Amino acid sequence: MLSGVRKQVHDVIDFHCHPPGWRRTRTAYWRAPSPRDYLRYLRRAGLRGAALLAHDGLHRATPDSNDDLAAFAAEHPDRFFGFGTVYAPHPHAAAEARRCLTDLGLRGIKLHPWLQGVPMHHAGLDAVLAVVAELRGIVLVHDGTPPYATAGQIAAAARRHPTLPVVLGHGGLHDTWREALALTATTPNLYLCLCGTPPYAARTIVRQAPPEKVLFGTDAGLAPGPAQEYAVARVREISDWGVADADRVRILSANPARLLGIDPLPPITAEEAGDHDH
Ligand SMILES: [Zn+2]
Repeated sequence: MLSGVRKQVHDVIDFHCHPPGWRRTRTAYWRAPSPRDYLRYLRRAGLRGAALLAHDGLHRATPDSNDDLAAFAAEHPDRFFGFGTVYAPHPHAAAEARRCLTDLGLRGIKLHPWLQGVPMHHAGLDAVLAVVAELRGIVLVHDGTPPYATAGQIAAAARRHPTLPVVLGHGGLHDTWREALALTATTPNLYLCLCGTPPYAARTIVRQAPPEKVLFGTDAGLAPGPAQEYAVARVREISDWGVADADRVRILSANPARLLGIDPLPPITAEEAGDHDH
């Protein structure tokens, strides 16, 4: 079913995924996928790697939510790139960000100003952003839901930390995508991930944004089960964007690899994913 998609999308690194919210779902209605299940999902969707962003931690940013995420990502360290989270007003937030990027081997920090109730100008946030910049990590911020998490608020934080790559996690969604596009073009360290961005906006963004500043993501991991039709549908959409082939390779593969500081990833093999049926 997906063979055509695999051919179209090259070596895709999905820059916006979530591991299963396993602390919250362990006793809930669906069985959380294992790291191997998740790798199999990536393989079947034609993906090669995934930025795995905090999930449980967005609701309750505790160190053990970061421990869980790091343990999940460490099962397939060449494929999963973990992003922890912190609650910026907490006095230990910067220290926890440092622990994430050093002891836990995570690649960055995900922030969700709206769910976490922390505006991008909160005094505690600059110490966190400074630590991530110092350790050459990445900050990905949920965006597109005013009044918190507008592209303008996030771009202002990015400008205070010009060496820190800051990613708009949703390309502005419906409400702020024009602002997201304009600010990505004018803020050197601001990037834009197309994830949940409405297709009409995504088409304009890929035509007008600097091609080296655009990433692609699916929000995979939020739906029950690892083989998520929603995420697969997002992968399919890529071919409808009408973007030149060279730019598509940048968005799907070269840009995420450059930000993560990795070489292009080889395909996930059936053996690696324990995928004996496909
Ligand atoms: Zn998300």
